[in-house]
Amino acid sequence: MHEISDEQADKLYDGPVLSKECKTIVANSVLNILYAVGEDPEREGLVDTPTRVARSYDELLVGYNVDTKKLLNNALFDVEYSEMVIVSGIDFYSICEHHMLPIIGKAHVAYIPDKKVVGLSKIPRIVEAFARRLQVQERMTQQIANLIDELVEPQGVAVIVDGLHMCVAMRGAKKSNARMRTSALTGLFLKNELTRMEFMEHIGSIHQIL
Ligand SMILES: [Zn+2]
Repeated sequence: MHEISDEQADKLYDGPVLSKECKTIVANSVLNILYAVGEDPEREGLVDTPTRVARSYDELLVGYNVDTKKLLNNALFDVEYSEMVIVSGIDFYSICEHHMLPIIGKAHVAYIPDKKVVGLSKIPRIVEAFARRLQVQERMTQQIANLIDELVEPQGVAVIVDGLHMCVAMRGAKKSNARMRTSALTGLFLKNELTRMEFMEHIGSIHQIL
């Protein structure tokens, strides 16, 4: 098997997700993929690609390093408010765990407070924490809903995720399936059709969004 040079390995550092040692393993693996697909890893454009890819995983997979239970520390407020709170159109970038190709899309989150509301900026951070991992969209949708349900204890949570899967789009399979909508509903969103419809109407159809 091929290995990156000592000089290249020396430029890798411990990051929030991958240690220097793990980055070296990723870089060596990418180098071998380049050889295996018949490329010339010595050419100018590719010479730093293995280490570049290894470094990028610190950002792409940073969700593994987030303690999701602590995300809402100091961001829950007691209020007398029981109307629907909607945060829609949250951009996310994830990686499909089946092909290691990007999933890009938008997440839409609603909840009906019981006694607590959560700071507005925290909802996108919850989405981000679960998106920046190797994922399947169905699980990510459920994880977002479960965490809000657990930490905010609302009367109901609804999460809709619209995703464009590069593994489908780029490989030219049925294009109509390239966009996927998944949902996770709890409490009043499950029990009350009008509540559910109010949320669905607010966010609109997947084809208007992606
Ligand atoms: Zn895939």
